[in-house]
Amino acid sequence: QEKDYQFMLRTRNPGGFIPPQLYLALDNLSDQYGNGTLRVTTRQGFQLHGILKKNLKAAIATIVQNMGSTLGACGDLNRNVMAPPAPYKTRPDYQYAWEYADKIADLLRPQTGAYYEIWLDGEKAISAEEAPEVKAARESNGNGTLIHGKEEPIYGDRYMPRKFKITVTVPGDNSIDLFTNDLSLVVLLNDAGELEGFNVYAGGGLGRTHNKEETFARLADPIGYVAKDDVYDLVKAIVATQRDYGDRAERRHARMKYLLHDWGVDKFRQTVERYFGKPIEPFRPLPAFEYRDYLGWNEQGDGKLFVGISIENGRVKDEGNFQLKSALREIVERFNLPMRLTANHNVILYEIAPEDQIEIDRLLRDRGITINPTEIDPLVRYSMACPALPTCGLAIAESERALPGFLDRIRALLNKLGLEQEHFVIRMTGCPNGCARPYMAELGFVGQAPNAYQVWLGGNPSQTCLAEPYLDKMKGEDLEATLEPLLSYFKQESLQRAEPESFGEFCHRVGFDALRRFAASYQPQ
Ligand code: SF4
Repeated sequence: QEKDYQFMLRTRNPGGFIPPQLYLALDNLSDQYGNGTLRVTTRQGFQLHGILKKNLKAAIATIVQNMGSTLGACGDLNRNVMAPPAPYKTRPDYQYAWEYADKIADLLRPQTGAYYEIWLDGEKAISAEEAPEVKAARESNGNGTLIHGKEEPIYGDRYMPRKFKITVTVPGDNSIDLFTNDLSLVVLLNDAGELEGFNVYAGGGLGRTHNKEETFARLADPIGYVAKDDVYDLVKAIVATQRDYGDRAERRHARMKYLLHDWGVDKFRQTVERYFGKPIEPFRPLPAFEYRDYLGWNEQGDGKLFVGISIENGRVKDEGNFQLKSALREIVERFNLPMRLTANHNVILYEIAPEDQIEIDRLLRDRGITINPTEIDPLVRYSMACPALPTCGLAIAESERALPGFLDRIRALLNKLGLEQEHFVIRMTGCPNGCARPYMAELGFVGQAPNAYQVWLGGNPSQTCLAEPYLDKMKGEDLEATLEPLLSYFKQESLQRAEPESFGEFCHRVGFDALRRFAASYQPQ
């Protein structure tokens, strides 16, 4: 008899969009075949854990029949395309970001019929048809170098050397960690509010391997600007560059960030231009990016409302008085609301009629859910953890189950040191793959061994600066002893400054030598 193999199943939702019908189907599936919970991912999808192999086909078919998909959510191809989750219905920049996230997801969707043959007995999805311009763009051969195969015009017969991650955002909005993606597009409008083109970043990526110096986290570089009519050709040219030059021999060196690192931006740009068939225009000035989470009650701009709900570690579950799963099910069922998942594993319910606000607010509060973001401890609000144990086979240390305890202890330490008002971005993962993006955190914990973490410091609240490894193999029980000197130094040196700075910015400014010197001579309070 075959073993009961168990799988994780991940959805594909460009821009984090989940129609109500799909949410209800996923909620049912998690009870019927999964572990009774849903997990919001850091790429705006849902994960279902604990699906037995014998139930995979029924689960995937149910998702596809309910306007969802899992196609390309894993594997060596373009993954879920991210976009800011804020449902600003009257902001053309946000509308374009959503539109192009969808279109680029379609452009790079694998064309094979195998997915439908295997999981749906050949039936095609009932999802929306793709735009004709997207199909034409996929099949056009540019200057003769873009097409790689008949069945798969872009991926050819070998797909990509490694996963490929894309975001589309608007100037200033870094709700989607744009610097950590292989390719990020920033929509640029003209004075009339019409789409003119995109600024392009490339070469970000976080996954690394402990003790392998040749693997590292890297931020994306600005590459240039592309007019809107050329955007598909430029996306294809970048994908084709990675397809043809990305390292297929050494998997640890296969992400596009290593091409950027090994070649430099100029050679990368020149190679892309050969596929693109013309020069890439210079990058256009942009305002600074900042992180936004869109929690609490907000206006969409068209008279309707949205509510952003903070979900600790992204886990949608019922536990004791905390009944988030039941609450979301009831609200989506009764009010037929769509949702957008955020890149910080939160949920935004939108299209809410103002007359329904009081009832939805009451339903959430009655189920133990805090809605007002100022009532959430900011350490929790801005934190992220990957699932790790027991559901991820790559985990070497706890993450989702360990982070809440770490946050409580850090909060107690801040209080003890008279730093009650301080907060910073804390992220934890169970292995160096970095799914919760710990290398962008102000304080990151990366599992190195059971109950031992590499400590990263120096990211910033806007997610625009890479952290660096400060300490190896910190035992869980040494958390306070490790952090107390650093936070005391921060209090002594930083809080009196005219220019306020966060803990991560402080660590970045003073440097690790100074932090280590201070820690070595520190007398605990
Ligand atoms: Fe698994 Fe590692 Fe990703 Fe965590 S970071 S979910 S342990 S692969």
